[in-house]
Amino acid sequence: MTNKVKVSNLGYPRIGKNREWKKTLEAFWSGKTDEATFRSEMAGIQLQHLLTQKEAGIELIPVNDFTFYDHVLDTAVMFGIVPPRYDYEGGDIPLELYFGMARGNTRATACEMTKWFNTNYHYIVPEIGRQTPRLTENKPLAAYRFAKEQAGIEGKPVIVGLYTFLKLSKGFPSTDIADVAGRFLPVYVQLLQELEAEGVAWVQIDEPAIVSGLSEEDQSLLENIYQTLAAAVPGLNIMLQTYFEAAEPLEALLKLPVQGLGLDFVHDGGANLESIQRLGWPEDKWLGAGIIDGRNIWRSDLDAKLQLVEKLAAHVALDQLILQPSSSLLHVPVTVQGEDKLKLTVKNALAFADEKLAELTLIGAAVGGGEASAAALATSREALAAFRALPERARQDVAEQVRGLAALPDNRSLPFAERVKVQQQKWQLPLLPTTTIGSFPQTVEVRQARLKWRKGVWNQERYDLFIRKQIEEAITFQENLGLDVLVHGEFERTDMVEFFGEKLAGYLFTRNGWVQSYGSRCVKPPVIYADIAFIEPMTVKESVYAQSLTKLPVKGMLTGPVTILNWSFVRDDLSREAVANQIALALRHEVLALESAGIEMIQVDEPAIREGLPLKAEDREHYLQWAVKSFRIATNHVKDTTQVHTHMCYSEFNDMIDSISAMDADVISIETSRSHGELIVSFEEQEYDKGIGLGVYDIHSPRVPGVEEMTSNIDRALRVLEPEQFWINPDCGLKTRGWPETEGALRNMVQAAIIVRERV
Ligand code: GLN
Ligand code: ZN
Repeated sequence: MTNKVKVSNLGYPRIGKNREWKKTLEAFWSGKTDEATFRSEMAGIQLQHLLTQKEAGIELIPVNDFTFYDHVLDTAVMFGIVPPRYDYEGGDIPLELYFGMARGNTRATACEMTKWFNTNYHYIVPEIGRQTPRLTENKPLAAYRFAKEQAGIEGKPVIVGLYTFLKLSKGFPSTDIADVAGRFLPVYVQLLQELEAEGVAWVQIDEPAIVSGLSEEDQSLLENIYQTLAAAVPGLNIMLQTYFEAAEPLEALLKLPVQGLGLDFVHDGGANLESIQRLGWPEDKWLGAGIIDGRNIWRSDLDAKLQLVEKLAAHVALDQLILQPSSSLLHVPVTVQGEDKLKLTVKNALAFADEKLAELTLIGAAVGGGEASAAALATSREALAAFRALPERARQDVAEQVRGLAALPDNRSLPFAERVKVQQQKWQLPLLPTTTIGSFPQTVEVRQARLKWRKGVWNQERYDLFIRKQIEEAITFQENLGLDVLVHGEFERTDMVEFFGEKLAGYLFTRNGWVQSYGSRCVKPPVIYADIAFIEPMTVKESVYAQSLTKLPVKGMLTGPVTILNWSFVRDDLSREAVANQIALALRHEVLALESAGIEMIQVDEPAIREGLPLKAEDREHYLQWAVKSFRIATNHVKDTTQVHTHMCYSEFNDMIDSISAMDADVISIETSRSHGELIVSFEEQEYDKGIGLGVYDIHSPRVPGVEEMTSNIDRALRVLEPEQFWINPDCGLKTRGWPETEGALRNMVQAAIIVRERV
């Protein structure tokens, strides 16, 4: 027996240090590069990522975590799962079809996209239906060979486990899941047998769906799957990997005939360690110990991590212990190197993917008693102490305001049923009012103008003038189309959280802290490192200017507290609830500022409220309660006639209708079209009486939907909702679209509204 633990990684960010992955993809989509160039550039990026991990001293390097778009889409395509609307007739799946499923093509609309568990990463939802899977290509095997040939790396193929794959898929009744699993098992077996025959040592099978909770049926399905797989590949070590929460009941998982079990010791609330202390650890199993946060960007407290390893080592032999991040590093940026604009105390408190790998190898060395590690541990300790002592992390004034919260009324002065009457009196909107969600195309011109201003090439005045001109054009554009409620277009905003973060106290910004959101779309979450506080009005100037140009109402546009929280990297020394309250108090100031400047329709977007939902059902109520409360703190002190809107980007509404109603917004708009109408079914079962706009077209694709397609979407919604409460709008903001398709689609949307109005 050695005392050498192994150091592993679960997945490396795809996008590259300078987002070269994104650029390569977009160049290919726009036709600037051909397929051969695209493939060879992608291979170069893939290789670079492997070498980085090798140099960092990672012993079990993941392969097949790399993708051209999304790993769930890869899995579906690998098994030949293509929805019938693409007219696919078998054979190889060309890139055109692969990207068509992701983004829509001339034959068919895109597949649904939804959040990967409680993260801001989005995967493409497989539509299984009655299809029989077959292995179109063994992608993990190809990735394994690539790593071996190109980098001399004995890689660890990563695949989405069958249980999770089916839990994330649609197109079959959930009661049929065991039968569907039966159809897929042979192809999983084939895939694994090919890896075994190649001499692969370890395969990482990701089963994060386990942490959402296991019913008895779930447990027997898992047993069935892993008994079959393990029996088919006796020579292959399976690491059954969970993450994002505690894996419960651990008893059931320990019974599975796999060689290793990977657990998250960061986001489990301590439950995984407790289970191990209670149950012990079987001698014949490896423990993949997720000890470094794969979801956040802070330097680890290495002393605390070493103590954790010690506790684990009381139950698991060191040579059965694999140190790893809590999840794939897909959710954090690549490297802190180059973040030179930050205060050194702050920069030194950060750890992105590369720095996390270094922390892991350092802990690995320290566990083994390595000499060199003492100095590195001391440096880390000092960096953390300096950061913790920053005064802006413990402001007296903020603490006082938060304490005052309990005494603040958080309800509107009139209930909705009465408010709606005074509001209709004031606003005089037509039946089925048309509007948009807020942003208009962020063209190259807009982005370049912002860049010039940021670099100081343009002064503030010149930039303001430019933004005003954009607003003028947007207002004219909307008036010409005949929309009823207008927006200023959000041209001054990069991103809906960063924009606010820059104007609030308590935030910091990285230069290159990008993470993948969906496809080639990356976001650079701002960082809440200190107490949040309002400094001065953030959105009043642009909204007031837009309103001065038209008699039609212009909605003020804010991002809500929960979304600001969920789309930021958040300090981990306070509860998320406490940070949400700080943000809500700051936004409350902004809402008042807008209202007193004459903006009396105010939209407070909460697109991310659902993704913060805890994975385990029993934790949800508490979350929803403080999330709703923070929205109310921010919005509910306005006049009766002021109309509060909100917007959400998801389509699973069913389990949240009460909470959404409790937010008490006068109007909500929700994304629906990608779920192909499933959302509407929720309203057949539950009452929702406030204003509501279910997106009538998908904004994720450049395709311009026809009038008829939209009238039929509206008609379908009106079968369950009253025309008096229904609003007509696209699914989401239009900032990623171009002007021509925006104009075409909105023109059709207004046309559709006119047609339906005449009928109802
Ligand atoms: N108001 C925002 C926009 O239109 C909302 C975006 C979102 O929901 N993600 O861009
Ligand atoms: Zn949206």
